[in-house]
Amino acid sequence: MSAEIINGKELAQQLKDNMKNEVTELRDKGITPHLTVVLIGDNPASKSYVKGKKKASAETGISSDIIELPDSTSEEKLLQLISELNNDPEVDGILVQLPLPEHIAEQKVIEYIDPGKDVDGFHPVNIGRMMTGKDTFLPCTPFGIVTMLKSKNIAISGQHVVVIGRSNIVGKPVGQLLLNENATVTYCHSKTKGLKQFTKMADILIVAVGIPGAIGADHIKPGAAIIDVGINRLADGSLTGDVDFEEAKEVASYITPVPKGVGPMTITMLLQNTIKAAKGRKA
Ligand code: NDP
Repeated sequence: MSAEIINGKELAQQLKDNMKNEVTELRDKGITPHLTVVLIGDNPASKSYVKGKKKASAETGISSDIIELPDSTSEEKLLQLISELNNDPEVDGILVQLPLPEHIAEQKVIEYIDPGKDVDGFHPVNIGRMMTGKDTFLPCTPFGIVTMLKSKNIAISGQHVVVIGRSNIVGKPVGQLLLNENATVTYCHSKTKGLKQFTKMADILIVAVGIPGAIGADHIKPGAAIIDVGINRLADGSLTGDVDFEEAKEVASYITPVPKGVGPMTITMLLQNTIKAAKGRKA
């Protein structure tokens, strides 16, 4: 039997519809959540992500603006701008689109953002709060993944989750969030020996590698839930994930497609965090 598809686009739309009502209620109380996105340079992928964030904000009634600066912007100038945004009472959420040009220290910039406005959930204070299971801004992609699993009532507690990838924005935090939900978590990465022996044990397999078709049917335990985080652009311009979807869907019980999977959820969780920030600061 073919796996049930977890449609991230549809779920994101449902969540955005709910958020729209929430934002209307907040606006009636004089609170308008505001997101400021800072974009440095003209990386086409970054431009497209930023455009998507602005569009999704508008759909839910969240106000947003994009500050575009040239590639040559100095680190000092960017830090100065962040300081101004930190102190601007109208701004609830600050997102600096990554990656940054090489002459700017990414971690320094992340740590400069007021943790109370860090709607990406990348600030070490927020990561620490997440690690210790405290209320905080959760990083958007991992938050979206957990929301997708819960939307299908997929059991997490006591299940074996295998995460392939250990980046600070996806792999590490998604494993931590699922550990917080009482899963048993195994991390795999490029130095893992015998990847298949681990992936075949997974009740939930999360793949965040960035290699098209890295995971096929022979990596998957029958009945597992597969979350494909990868977004890879093929030569013909189309997008594909890290999992061979056609093969995997014949073995898995649940699977996320690419596109229309994790991607739309990431933006939606950013909006959720922006509303949370506004409620925390202005309500
Ligand atoms: P990174 O490049 O930061 O991390 C990739 C990870 O995969 C690393 O931990 C690396 O190991 C591991 N890896 C690489 N090759 C292998 C291999 N052959 N076997 C096992 N592990 C391997 O990527 P990100 O985490 O930022 O992103 C991963 C993918 O997810 C990308 O395609 C990206 O575009 C996509 N993405 C999608 C989002 C969404 O909203 N859907 C959001 C963010 C990212 P090591 O640490 O040893 O190098």
